[in-house]
Amino acid sequence: MTVGIWILGDQLWQQQSALESCIENQATTPIILIESLAHVQERRYHRQKLILIWSAMRHFAEVLKVNGWHVTYETAASFENPLQKWIEHHSIDELRVMEPADRPFSEFLDQLNLPCKLVIMPNNHFLWSTSDFATWAASRKSLLMESFYREGRKRFEILMEDKQPVGGQWNFDKENRKPAKGKISPPLPLTFEPDEITQAVIDEVEAADYPTFGTSDSFAWAVTRAQALEVLADFVRDRLPTFGPYQDAMVTGEETLWHALLSPYLNLGLLQPMEVIEAVETAYQENPQLPLNSVEGLIRQVLGWREYMRGLYHHVDADYPSRNYFEHHQPLPDFFWDGNTPMNCLHQTLDTLKRTGYAHHIQRLMLLANFALIAGLSPQAVEDWFHSTFIDAYDWVMQTNVIGMGLFADGGMLSTKPYAASANYIHKMSDYCQGCQYDHKSRIGENACPFNFFYWDFLDRHREKLSAQGRMNFILKNLDKMSADERHAIRQQAQDWHREMA
Ligand SMILES: Cc1cc2nc3c(=O)[nH]c(=O)nc-3n(C[C@H](O)[C@H](O)[C@H](O)COP(=O)(O)OP(=O)(O)OC[C@H]3O[C@@H](n4cnc5c(N)ncnc54)[C@H](O)[C@@H]3O)c2cc1C
Ligand code: SF4
Repeated sequence: MTVGIWILGDQLWQQQSALESCIENQATTPIILIESLAHVQERRYHRQKLILIWSAMRHFAEVLKVNGWHVTYETAASFENPLQKWIEHHSIDELRVMEPADRPFSEFLDQLNLPCKLVIMPNNHFLWSTSDFATWAASRKSLLMESFYREGRKRFEILMEDKQPVGGQWNFDKENRKPAKGKISPPLPLTFEPDEITQAVIDEVEAADYPTFGTSDSFAWAVTRAQALEVLADFVRDRLPTFGPYQDAMVTGEETLWHALLSPYLNLGLLQPMEVIEAVETAYQENPQLPLNSVEGLIRQVLGWREYMRGLYHHVDADYPSRNYFEHHQPLPDFFWDGNTPMNCLHQTLDTLKRTGYAHHIQRLMLLANFALIAGLSPQAVEDWFHSTFIDAYDWVMQTNVIGMGLFADGGMLSTKPYAASANYIHKMSDYCQGCQYDHKSRIGENACPFNFFYWDFLDRHREKLSAQGRMNFILKNLDKMSADERHAIRQQAQDWHREMA
């Protein structure tokens, strides 16, 4: 029997389950990687994301060849044709594919009409299997991340001592919300000059006639496992000590601060979640002077949030992507695509995004998603936009982060209240308001910050639904202190803003 392996573009790890299953027959197992243009016909993508994935795939194919695998690499308009030909050419009886991370791709595999048997191997790029997550979820009334995270700490014995959390508490998040005021000196991110393979992809993407987002000229991401490991080592050495305190800070011109910059590599399989966690835990064991709030903070992101978002994505019903709890239908304003807005916080973030494909978590959550939430933009249009514009965007990580965490469009499955905030929060956590034409203190009038009138209008419009979320009652009392005239003026200004944008 001839077994063949199809490696998907986000499964670039030599120990992935389909490859592992044939490790004894390396020289005789045909392998295929397909660079398909089918995706780019469906929606636009950031140029740097296309370059990253295709370059990483081409590099990975070379590594597999050097290691003795029999590799075919195809570039084609669709997946079906090259796959069919390759199966017939090698007389393959059984095609093995590691379970896709994204549900739409699994559905695509299900409807493929192949001339051989298709075997889906369990996905080993995540720490929790989907069935283990389902067992955990079935035992709970509420599916909040914190209890999942604690379970993960115990299950994988991370930062544990005598069955208790190291440092006596599970979570040091309260210490991780410092604004970065005054002079700060975060380390520069580690960058990589494009080699011949990457340059060829850059040239192809630049010459392409399909629509894309962003620029490619500053492409400097890692494209191999070896480079991704350098990024991890660089993070542990230079960024980890200060990662915690400034996790929520936003500073003009400081695009990455002390963030890890690891999501593009984790999501492609160039890095594995446990090796990131272990690198951080080992650094702490070797140097107990490392601040525990930074160490625990990073481990919570990878062991907690990342695994939780993926587990939940496979656990929720198939209609999750179409949820719209607040019934928001406003279209996406053009400035999301071109960055041309006088709102300085959004302008700075969108400008970075165009040049790099990256914005850090608080920019994603408290600027982009927060604005979309309070301005009433359609959750599906916003999710589609995030998917098109970010270097690390995949269906499994977008749905729960954007529809759930960012927009509360799932009605509160994963958050106890919406992440909605006015300019007050942005002013506290960033320096953006200093360089803005709007007044972060005003709610109404020519210079009023749109984050303010949209915020109060959001609370007013959804008072009933929000009062069901116990944690919103305090802030709703402030809404009640406003006069009817003020609330009316706020509603009017919000509506005028949308009319002007149309
Ligand atoms: C609206 C919104 C959209 C997002 N879109 C994406 C996306 O497309 N792709 C993506 O990988 N992450 C996404 N995230 C999660 C998170 O913002 C990014 O993982 C993080 O900003 C990546 O940058 P970093 O590697 O520097 O992360 P750091 O802040 O340094 O965190 C370290 C790592 O923790 C993991 N992590 C932290 N939070 C999350 C989370 N909520 N979900 C999944 N992993 C997490 C990531 O692997 C990340 O690399 C989104 C969050 C929000 C609120
Ligand atoms: S004033 Fe408003 S729009 Fe301007 S930077 Fe501050 S929060 Fe953003």
